[in-house]
Amino acid sequence: VFFFGVWLFNYFCCCGCCLTGIMFQDITTLLLDHKAFKDTVDIFVDRYRGMNISVVAGVEARGFVFGPAIALAIGAKFVPLRKPRKLPGEVISEAYELEYGTDCLEIHVGAVQSGERAIVIDDLVATGGTLSAAIRLLERVGAEVIECACVIGVREVKGQCRLNGKPLYILVEPR
Ligand code: 5GP
Repeated sequence: VFFFGVWLFNYFCCCGCCLTGIMFQDITTLLLDHKAFKDTVDIFVDRYRGMNISVVAGVEARGFVFGPAIALAIGAKFVPLRKPRKLPGEVISEAYELEYGTDCLEIHVGAVQSGERAIVIDDLVATGGTLSAAIRLLERVGAEVIECACVIGVREVKGQCRLNGKPLYILVEPR
């Protein structure tokens, strides 16, 4: 994908979780280009500034790349949604299905107060299972999820996206 003057590379993932040959979209080349990285963050910041968002929740791991920068710029806190057994305090968990198995996200109890307005940030949405789990976690602690946002939306599965009725904002769709 050519995005803001930068190639985001596709490659066949060879980690143990997806030996089936799933094509992996890589965002690390975007991070090497200061202008492209800043432009990407600025698009999200322009969209969410002034919307009374107090929580930017980022999905481990690549939601941690974009989420904190957005949170700082819009005056919100950053809340990490982490894989199991990574957060040190009391947590609540949500399991979800992936294209290649199941996984789980956790949030610290007390990180978000009831009634807070939240957005969820990740690098990529495919089936929407991960973002759906993130929404469920935030709603269980009483937050109002305003929108989910990703840099990349995988075209083939976008139509089947399961986001619990919440809006999804994506910047680029690979062909
Ligand atoms: P979903 O739950 O929407 O099917 O998958 C999205 C999650 O898996 C995100 O957390 C995302 O980081 C990760 N993911 C799945 N496929 C890819 C990929 O091709 N590239 C990247 N960067 N992340 C992926």
